[in-house]
Amino acid sequence: MAKIKLDSLTKSYGATEVLHHIQGDIDHGEFIVIVGPSGCGKSTLLRMVAGLETVTTGEVSIGDKVINDLEPADRDIAMVFQNYALYPHMTVEQNMAYGLKIRKLPKDEIKRRVEEAADILEIRDYLKRKPRQLSGGQRQRVAMGRAIVRDPQVFLFDEPLSNLDAKLRVQMRLEIRKLQRRLGVTSIYVTHDQVEAMTLGDRLMVLNGGYVEQFGTPIEVYEKPASVFVAGFIGSPSMNFISADAQNGLLTLPNGTTLRTSSKTVGPVTLGIRPEHLLPDEAGAIEVEVDLPEQLGATTLVHGRIVGTDLPITASLNGINAASSGDVLKFNAPVEQMHIFDAQSGKRID
Ligand code: ADP
Repeated sequence: MAKIKLDSLTKSYGATEVLHHIQGDIDHGEFIVIVGPSGCGKSTLLRMVAGLETVTTGEVSIGDKVINDLEPADRDIAMVFQNYALYPHMTVEQNMAYGLKIRKLPKDEIKRRVEEAADILEIRDYLKRKPRQLSGGQRQRVAMGRAIVRDPQVFLFDEPLSNLDAKLRVQMRLEIRKLQRRLGVTSIYVTHDQVEAMTLGDRLMVLNGGYVEQFGTPIEVYEKPASVFVAGFIGSPSMNFISADAQNGLLTLPNGTTLRTSSKTVGPVTLGIRPEHLLPDEAGAIEVEVDLPEQLGATTLVHGRIVGTDLPITASLNGINAASSGDVLKFNAPVEQMHIFDAQSGKRID
């Protein structure tokens, strides 16, 4: 186990800076998920920790040691990739043992570690098979096994589940989480999938365009998103955003509707309300003309527009709701569930 410190890390390719002063302290045994849309710099950041990309400026430390100039093999990390990167001509056992053999560990120590990892991952029955004789989920386990046998200080995961189908992804997600808890190894996990991020991470680092938008627990990020970007990226369906004018504790929406707010801010803002926080209320001030209800079984998503505007809005209602196109529904939103962001910068205003 080890702490990791990312200290003002930047990465440039030629004249283009793609990561900007990334700052983050990761605790012993913590599971950190780096999440953000494609191209935001997640893989580059992970690869810098792995030693597969050079650091342009700043420092990466593991434990108390700056590792910028250490070779990947000397960093005491193990990486699990999206494409598994298994050797096709080797058996599962040989694949798992390979890294240890290179490091010249004694034969019986290698055997012990491979068997122990195979037991943890329940793949003992497949040890003599080749990767092509395994399902995607089994291959993923072997890739994990290869990381576990190394007994590293740090696990790095680069979108390890994206090649699996939806059901298996959920199952493997749980397995990775349980495994990481059990082994207590400090881990960094990269994904573009916000559900994976929310369910796996002790904390999430939300990246956007090479900047850290927020670094916090899943609940912090959900309840107090630091920016419009984070608010829109985390949570499904996405948060609704409505331009509004703030004055004297009131928000005026583009159709003239006013809502009470606890914020003292004055001027143009962006109001954010999650679909699950729009509560049906006969006396509610937020009037929505229904375009399309989507009945999902446990919930109904009502997609519509705020009456008198073209502003799209989605409400998530419990159970099956009989709303149909053209209906006007009324909602209120609890004051504490209204998020106010600066209209210009998109940053949260408390
Ligand atoms: P993500 O993993 O979030 O999808 P990446 O870390 O792969 O994003 O890429 C971040 C940015 O860096 C992107 O704009 C990408 O085009 C750029 N980039 C990545 N690798 C290189 C490279 N070898 N040369 C130039 N630009 C690169």
